[in-house]
Amino acid sequence: MQKTIGYAARNNTSPLVPFSFERRDPLPTDVQIEILFCGVCHSDIHQVRNEWGNATFPMVPGHEIVGKVTQVGSQVSKFKIGDHVGVGCLVGSCGVCPDCKDHLEQYCNNAEFTYNSPDKHSGGTNYGGYSRQIVVNQDFVLHVSDKLELAAVAPLLCAGITTYSPLKHWNVGKGDKVGIVGLGGLGHMGIKFAHAFGAYVVLFTTSPGKAEDAKRLGADEVVISKNPEEMGKHLASFDFILNTVAASHNLDAYTALLKRDGTLCLVGVPDQPHPSPAIGNLIFKRRSIVGSLIGGLKETQEMLDFCAKNAITSDIEIIPIQQINEAYERVLKSDVKYRFVIDLASLQETEV
Ligand code: NAP
Ligand code: ZN
Repeated sequence: MQKTIGYAARNNTSPLVPFSFERRDPLPTDVQIEILFCGVCHSDIHQVRNEWGNATFPMVPGHEIVGKVTQVGSQVSKFKIGDHVGVGCLVGSCGVCPDCKDHLEQYCNNAEFTYNSPDKHSGGTNYGGYSRQIVVNQDFVLHVSDKLELAAVAPLLCAGITTYSPLKHWNVGKGDKVGIVGLGGLGHMGIKFAHAFGAYVVLFTTSPGKAEDAKRLGADEVVISKNPEEMGKHLASFDFILNTVAASHNLDAYTALLKRDGTLCLVGVPDQPHPSPAIGNLIFKRRSIVGSLIGGLKETQEMLDFCAKNAITSDIEIIPIQQINEAYERVLKSDVKYRFVIDLASLQETEV
């Protein structure tokens, strides 16, 4: 085992504080990564505050990791020392179930998540990316292009793939009218991808001040979701709506906007359930409400390659790790443009 440092929550009400812990020595198929940048996902906040009821403490969050390979196990064939790499929400899965065989490791019943998830190797708990280094099986490490700004790549590992995957799965493209609900970390990537796939993109936001940014990011239209008159103009007109909102809210306002056979896809995971959908909204136009979870490793690499080819990255605010607690408060106020990314060079040995 090797000592390392990071920031951890000690319980569901404490702020994140400096924390010293151990990582395993690299196994033959492991890659050791010096973490350079880690994005701050709203899921980190849900989990450190135990809003999903499954938190284990101490918790080192962080699953939007970009770094540099510093060591490789003897059987590692995919990476070499010095490569720039990424790690997202997944660090393991069973490898043999139908989901794994279909390259959809995120749906494996034994998926191992990057943090707040049992460590299959040590029997302890996985610690995430708000830390100096991480050791991950090579099959769960991704190649990152040197063409893109590394800090702005980090959010692609969760916010990017979580929006890319459903847009691909439901075949969003040219000729489609697509809604993105919420302009935060996921939402801003949803706009970029839907626009890149050729769709007509409408952002639904509760924040009128974000309208100009939304258009710059690729939205063709912006609708203030609290304004019933504006919402009413779009009744029964959407092919697909991707809802990224992190809080419980009325879904009927969105199902009513879908065409016949249209789909409302939920990716936000609020701590409280949404009020039930009005069944009439669904059956009279054969509309669907569906959900989607991040993406598998193969698709995540495809997404990163797509981003490198099309010069797509996240719009970020870089922070030193010492500002993480203030950053959480700003995310909770929907006040981030549009993803915080921690520069791990700020993490000092002397703090711990
Ligand atoms: P975020 O940056 O906080 O963005 C969420 C956006 O939702 C806000 O910027 C805001 O946009 C809107 N919003 C917030 N509260 C609202 C409310 N009460 N009513 C209506 N809109 C509201 O969060 P994120 O990092 O993008 O994550 C979003 C959600 O996705 C979280 O629940 C997270 O846990 C979940 N998530 C799911 C997956 C998955 O695999 N399914 C992966 C990652 C994250 P406006 O200001 O534009 O209204
Ligand atoms: Zn995330």
